Amino acid sequence: MLFGGIEAGGTKFICAVGDEKGNIVERISVSTTFPQETMEQVIAFFKNYQLSAVGIGSFGPVDVNHDSPTYGNITTTPKTAWRDYPLVSTIRESFQVPIGFNTDVNAAALGEATLGAAKGLDSCLYITVGTGIGAGAIMQGKLLQGLSHPEMGHILVRRHENDIYKGKCPYHHDCLEGLAAGPALEERWGEKGASLQNKQEVWELEGFYIAQALMQYILILSPKKIILGGGVMKQKQIFPIINKYLQQFLNNYVVVPELTSDIEQYIVSPGLGDNAGITGSLLLAVQAYEDAVTRAK
Ligand code: ADP
Ligand code: ZN
Repeated sequence: MLFGGIEAGGTKFICAVGDEKGNIVERISVSTTFPQETMEQVIAFFKNYQLSAVGIGSFGPVDVNHDSPTYGNITTTPKTAWRDYPLVSTIRESFQVPIGFNTDVNAAALGEATLGAAKGLDSCLYITVGTGIGAGAIMQGKLLQGLSHPEMGHILVRRHENDIYKGKCPYHHDCLEGLAAGPALEERWGEKGASLQNKQEVWELEGFYIAQALMQYILILSPKKIILGGGVMKQKQIFPIINKYLQQFLNNYVVVPELTSDIEQYIVSPGLGDNAGITGSLLLAVQAYEDAVTRAK
């Protein structure tokens, strides 16, 4: 059986065909331009295969409520050409198969929990620090969802006393994303994240903010593993800084080895590397297929 996976990103759509175990057989990358142009290429690629289901992990916010008339749409994205775009129904017009749909970070969390760094665990948190900050959670073996999907990148954090940068989030200015995502780094320091590699103060401040967020996620969700992905986290020197601040902020309140002696195995890079999102999208397809089979019984 073959499944289709789409990791719909703000810069590119990665499309893959794979098997029920999440192994990728073929993949392409399509630039995220205008919906019609991008989606024509996506659909043309998948038309070469007989797919049993399609899974989509999308940039958002998205409507994941099955009972909503706008289920499957991208909603209030700052990318105006994609605002209110009906992603799921566009795919459904071309492929009459079950379709799984969730956020990009939820897909990545599913990929990591099934085949990556959190394999074998029934909970984990996947966080991306890239163009934005977002997180997906698996709790008790299921993707965490309530009224909508979580938006953990937009939590409020305490400012560092020396940080006078105004923040870049169009909605909240100095929320976590506004202070610590890639575009905030670039605007605050005047250079792209990648070229700030040797500036210790940049990563101290970045670690200070990310550690505050992790503290809150740990206190609220208590995940068994935290996976940090996205472009900014390619700067591996942030990990020990995050660990230092996290331990300082928690101040031995939660006493488990994962947060003390074993913290380097608790807060980790994605086990699937850059494939976490696309692998998770394939697994969303497999889940959608299995759900449809169960419903038909
Ligand atoms: P996206 O979030 O769009 O899917 P990425 O996860 O690659 O894509 O994030 C892109 C952001 O990460 C940009 O702001 C970029 O400047 C920053 N970035 C990419 N690579 C690095 C790096 N090696 N070090 C620091 N920042 C980086
Ligand atoms: Zn915000």
